[in-house]
Amino acid sequence: MSDVLIIGGGQAGSMVAINLRKKKFEGSISIITEEASYPYQRPPLSKGFLTGKTKIESLFFKSEEYYEKNGIKVLLRHRAIKLNTKKQEVILEDGRSIDYKKLVITTGSNLNKITSKEHKRIIYLNTLSNAIELQKQLKESKSVGIVGAGYIGLEVAATAKKMGLQTTVFEAEKRIMQRSASKEISNFIKSYHEKMGVEFKLNTIAERIEPTDKGVRIDLSDGKGSNPDFVVIGVGVQAASSIAEDAGLDCSNGILVDENCLTNDKNIYAAGDCVNYYYSRYGTRHRLESVQNAIDQAAIVSSSIVGEPILYNSTPWFWSDQYDLKLKIAGLSQECDLTVIRGKTEEIKFSACHFKENKLTAVECVNDQKTFMLGKKLIETESSITPEAMENTLTNLKDWG
Ligand SMILES: Cc1cc2nc3c(=O)[nH]c(=O)nc-3n(C[C@H](O)[C@H](O)[C@H](O)COP(=O)(O)OP(=O)(O)OC[C@H]3O[C@@H](n4cnc5c(N)ncnc54)[C@H](O)[C@@H]3O)c2cc1C
Repeated sequence: MSDVLIIGGGQAGSMVAINLRKKKFEGSISIITEEASYPYQRPPLSKGFLTGKTKIESLFFKSEEYYEKNGIKVLLRHRAIKLNTKKQEVILEDGRSIDYKKLVITTGSNLNKITSKEHKRIIYLNTLSNAIELQKQLKESKSVGIVGAGYIGLEVAATAKKMGLQTTVFEAEKRIMQRSASKEISNFIKSYHEKMGVEFKLNTIAERIEPTDKGVRIDLSDGKGSNPDFVVIGVGVQAASSIAEDAGLDCSNGILVDENCLTNDKNIYAAGDCVNYYYSRYGTRHRLESVQNAIDQAAIVSSSIVGEPILYNSTPWFWSDQYDLKLKIAGLSQECDLTVIRGKTEEIKFSACHFKENKLTAVECVNDQKTFMLGKKLIETESSITPEAMENTLTNLKDWG
């Protein structure tokens, strides 16, 4: 029996436990994690960890001793397979069951897979063990094919290029970062990668990916093919919400929670990538995949459990590192109707500022920390600022290719 039982020992799950102890919560806490490692941060796995700049020891949020000393039981290599909300119990793969008073689901996301066979030269990047394999392939290979031009694919492309590999990115959409960044930013980042020597094949689907004796064969939708030494696939994720769904919790593109991260069961909270959260700022639900989102929602859950619910009005934000580009995004740029550019793209320090009905809704900043901080604050406080005041050059969305 656990007073607080957490399924998933990633960013959100570990932060819930750590926060609870910081708040002097004295009940028992257990984390069920299917992974072999204590909770660690994922962002460096597609960045500094690959080049060796970030050492493995610095990935972990806390040491093993911390969890022991603070009475947080971490059940490594244990997968939760079933939830019985009436009995308030979670069943593990080995047949054991654990009762809870409060349950927190932080199961993150599941990779979209486009291949059926596992192979060391076909890599999906979501865990430390995948990243270790990728690190090895990067060191030993001369060429890489990257399927998917989202953040993970592009960060790996930047690293591969820096390490001297011939790098080709295959993307099904017409532009890179279609889902996550504006056209302005996506066009800039693409041309930056091209300058560095990365080749892009847009509008191109990788239809078949098979290991060969020496590398990997990729058959493409344009009838052509490619034979890199290895391939990295980053074609998105989905909410890992099946355990909640099977137990009858309300789910739709993630576990549906209210502003306190509470599900439709009063004893069950959920946080992080697996959650579809109601943002009163936007009046809509969003499922976000970011560290900030996981940290913020973990804080909401732990505060709520100790009976000190917090009012949440934070602006979603995200970052990505590619070469010497530090991209930081605050707010949600979808559905904007006007974009102004602040700063100069030639100086590789600028921001795309997005407005909807004359209200600033998002800023996407390249090496421009000042505008990021300013924009985030303006969005948070819902201050009125005109596009003219944000810009250097006023550019209507229609003018961008
Ligand atoms: C390579 C990479 C780079 C990234 N870079 C950035 C970045 O630059 N900036 C940024 O903001 N975000 C980045 N992200 C995203 C960010 O890491 C995630 O949004 C964040 O980790 C989400 O936290 P979470 O706790 O919801 O899920 P996770 O951290 O994914 O943790 C979920 C955990 O639950 C476990 N689990 C799932 N189901 C079960 C089960 N049934 N039983 C037991 N355990 C289970 C999983 O194995 C996993 O360990 C990156 C992600 C990856 C993979």
